[in-house]
Amino acid sequence: MTQSKHNVVIFLGPPGAGKGTQAERLAQDKGLVKISTGDILRDHVVRGTDLGQQVKPILDAGTLVPDEILIALIRDKLADMEHVRVIFDGFPRTTAQAQALDMLLEELGAPVSAVPLLEVPDEVLVGRIVERGRQAAARGEAVRSDDTEEVARRRQQVYREQTQPLIDYYSGRGHLYRVDGVGGLDEVYGRIQTGMK
Ligand code: AMP
Repeated sequence: MTQSKHNVVIFLGPPGAGKGTQAERLAQDKGLVKISTGDILRDHVVRGTDLGQQVKPILDAGTLVPDEILIALIRDKLADMEHVRVIFDGFPRTTAQAQALDMLLEELGAPVSAVPLLEVPDEVLVGRIVERGRQAAARGEAVRSDDTEEVARRRQQVYREQTQPLIDYYSGRGHLYRVDGVGGLDEVYGRIQTGMK
């Protein structure tokens, strides 16, 4: 991975592939800021902001929040940064978002460094998401309203239709590499690091 002052990593992969967990670890190791749009939106919902009230039904349904909202949110986040050293988790999710991100990064002189794609078979994904909900409940934690089987299936469908085209978008630019996302956390993390060299 480039050692320049800027470093932009985009984690791609379907819901339940483990992007959040792996991105968190990579962020700590490399001194990058993780930007998880799902976490940011859920935080707005919890705080009951105008944005939170607007997006809650969308998150509950498992469909996508409008591009303009996400793009404005990311523009604000990046505007404060002296050096753009970030890992995106859950953004971009549409071609329009990817194009807007490219424009923003060009303005900032911070090109995309790497796009790991975490690959996990469909049948494993929904099981993982439902299990994540169960485990959070068992720990007495708040359960994500979209970690139910029905909404999880909808989120996979939305991923296939709207986010999968980004695989071609980024592989065409030479940034994408595929990572087998099945295995232990350390094992998968090792593969991500190997691909980044
Ligand atoms: P996640 O935590 O990444 O699975 O995101 C949870 C939910 O937040 C998604 O199902 C969407 O409703 C919304 N969301 C998160 N990121 C985006 C994005 N980049 N574009 C549109 N909607 C998003």
